[in-house]
Amino acid sequence: ANTIQQTLNVPIMLGNNEVIISASIGITMAPYDSKEEDQLLKHADLAMYEAKAKGRNTYHFYSQELNAAANERLFIENELRVAIKAKQFIIYYQPQVDSRTQQVVGYEALIRWFHPTEGMIPPTKFIPIAEATGLIVELGAWVLQEACEFAARLAMQGRENNISINLSARQFKDAKLVPLLASIIKKTKVPAKCLHLELTESMLMGNVEAAISQLHQLKTLGVSISIDDFGTGYSSLSYLKRFPVDILKVDRSFVKDIPDDPNDMEITAAIIAMAQKLKLNVVAEGVETIEQVEFLQNNNCFIVQGYYYSAPIPESELSNLFEKLNERAGS
Ligand code: C2E
Ligand code: CA
Ligand code: CA
Ligand code: CA
Repeated sequence: ANTIQQTLNVPIMLGNNEVIISASIGITMAPYDSKEEDQLLKHADLAMYEAKAKGRNTYHFYSQELNAAANERLFIENELRVAIKAKQFIIYYQPQVDSRTQQVVGYEALIRWFHPTEGMIPPTKFIPIAEATGLIVELGAWVLQEACEFAARLAMQGRENNISINLSARQFKDAKLVPLLASIIKKTKVPAKCLHLELTESMLMGNVEAAISQLHQLKTLGVSISIDDFGTGYSSLSYLKRFPVDILKVDRSFVKDIPDDPNDMEITAAIIAMAQKLKLNVVAEGVETIEQVEFLQNNNCFIVQGYYYSAPIPESELSNLFEKLNERAGS
């Protein structure tokens, strides 16, 4: 494979232009992997896609694991198509708590898939496939609708709280997002100011002007914008200032080793200080211990989300959560 690549990497002349081509090579071995011609071609094709995923201009051998992973992807993709209609999804809500008062100030909507034979399939497994296939647009619309209905119910009960909703890259780029959200807000009568849309830094890269314009249109509806997993992407301070953003969420990877990792403590403190300079609100995610809550308090971050207060829970378990928080506030 190396020799093939070296041969192909020699520049060739196309008219007056020198072009360099590269090859991604998938390798399968007969009769070891299979004896069937069409199977072998499929295997080589799979291996070739893996070579591309590894950064192209390289080769990859077919393996059973590769086949298993591809079959799983295909299975999930097929099942996703029926799951929406079959109502196999439900939204769990994870509270965001003000650590000074133990009051819930908001919730993040996190999708759950309970498959009839596979059990719970985690979002980290199916969201990327929904994104790659475009199914996320329909699924994401469902999440928006459900979460807004939930927020409207809370508002009716006098528990007007913020609801954070994760948007995927495709959803964010979709020209229909703004009219869709506008119509959901109108139908559900949810107060738009309760809605926080969570985006990641990488979604704002690429076509920066288009992203800024989309953000402004969303903000015209009255919703807030939150940057999820903050600190894991590439945004610089000057970059961030160009986007009409309201909230930074400190990524769990920085919070999880507090107080053992001095580096992570420095980074967390720096992100909070930066958010304050930019007049942004800051939420810490993945908070699991009282030491982490105290560290964050000492650094002026009071809104926290994590297992220390509660895992994501279905709406039916909210009253238990309120009881637990009341007890904590009382003690
Ligand atoms: P995320 O947006 O960063 O969500 C936070 C994840 O951390 C959630 O995982 C949550 O259950 C978990 N988590 C919260 N507190 C703690 C903690 O104290 N410790 C630990 N170890 N974990 C904690 P989950 O629910 O499995 O979701 C994973 C990812 O899937 C989310 O990461 C988000 O990127 C995506 N996702 C979930 N729901 C949706 C959705 O409706 N739409 C889209 N586009 N993405 C979603
Ligand atoms: Ca999130
Ligand atoms: Ca996050
Ligand atoms: Ca994350």
